[in-house]
Amino acid sequence: MAAITFIGLGNMGGPMASNLVKAGHTVTVFDLSKEAVAALVSEGAKSAATAHEAAAGAECVITMLPAGQHVEAVYLGDDGLLAKLPAGTLVIDSSTISPETARAVAEQATAKNIPFIDAPVSGGVGGAKAGTLTFICGGAEETFNKAKPILETMGKNIFLAGEHGAGQVAKICNNMLLAILMAGTSEALALGVKNGLDPAVLSEVMKQSSGGNWALNVYNPWPGVMEAAPASRGYEGGFLVNLMNKDLGLAFDNAVKNHAAIPMGSLARNLFELHAGQGNGALDFSSIQRLYKPE
Ligand code: NAD
Repeated sequence: MAAITFIGLGNMGGPMASNLVKAGHTVTVFDLSKEAVAALVSEGAKSAATAHEAAAGAECVITMLPAGQHVEAVYLGDDGLLAKLPAGTLVIDSSTISPETARAVAEQATAKNIPFIDAPVSGGVGGAKAGTLTFICGGAEETFNKAKPILETMGKNIFLAGEHGAGQVAKICNNMLLAILMAGTSEALALGVKNGLDPAVLSEVMKQSSGGNWALNVYNPWPGVMEAAPASRGYEGGFLVNLMNKDLGLAFDNAVKNHAAIPMGSLARNLFELHAGQGNGALDFSSIQRLYKPE
C-alpha cells in the first residue's frame, strides 16, 4: 500500500480517491472546495491545507483537475509542486488537457528526475464510482509499469498510448467521437419520438442494431429511459457541457495545428457551444438532447 496524494476531488476525482481509500492506501487529499475534502475525510482520507502540504511525504501524487491552466498552476512555476517534490515521486495527471501542456509538465518533471505520466480517463462518473475507468497513458514504459497497480485500483483497462502527451491525444480523439455520437443519438431519438415511437423501445432497437453505441448502452440522453443516467435527474452531475466544450476545443486546436480535417467534430463543437450559450454549460453533456426536444 502506498502514501498517495490526490488533488482535485470533483465529479471524477472524488470517487477515484474514494476507491484508493477503500483499497487501503494512505490517501491525503486537497481541493479548493471544503465540501469535497470533507466528503473524502468522512471516508477515511487525510486532509491538508495546501497542495504542498498534501504532497509532503507522498510516494505518488495524482491530479484530476478541470483544465490545462489548473494543471499548470498546481505543478509549474516557483510555487508549483514540481519545484518541491523529491526526485522519484511518481506523478500522474488524469485531467484532460492539451498534449502540449502535458508535455510541458513532463519536461519539467523529467528535469527533476520525477517520473510523470499523463493518464486521462474515459468511463464517466459511473466508471469512476465503480472503479472501471479506462486510463489512457502517455510516458515512459517504466513509469507506466510503476503507475499501473495504482491505476488498477480505479480502472479496468489501462493503456499506454505512447510517449508523453500521447494519452491526451488519444483522449481528445475519443471525446470528439463521443460528442459526435451523443449528438447523433439525441437526433435519432428525437426523430423517432416525432414519429410517435417510445424512446425506450427505439433505444433498445438501436442498441441491438448497427447504430448501437456507448450513449445508448450506459448514458441514454432521453429523460426516463435509463434510471441511472443524468438525463433522468435533470441532467445534473456527470460530465458538464462546459468540459465537453473544452475537449472539443482541444480537438479543434489540435486539428488546426496538424492540418487535419474534422468536419463532424467541428459540427459537434458548434452544437455544444450553441447549447452552452443557451445557459446549459453546467448541465451534463447528454443534455444536448434538449437542442432537439425542447422540454
Ligand atoms: P469537476 O469540475 O467536477 O472537478 C474538478 C475539481 O478540481 C473541483 O472540485 C475543483 O474545486 C478542483 N480544483 C480546481 N482547481 C484546483 C486547484 N488549483 N487545486 C485543487 N483543486 C482544484 O471536474 P470533473 O468532472 O471531475 O473532471 C475533471 C477532469 O476529468 C477534467 O479534465 C475532465 O475533462 C475530465 N473528465 C471528466 C469526466 C466526467 O464524466 N466528468 C470524464 C472523463 C474525463
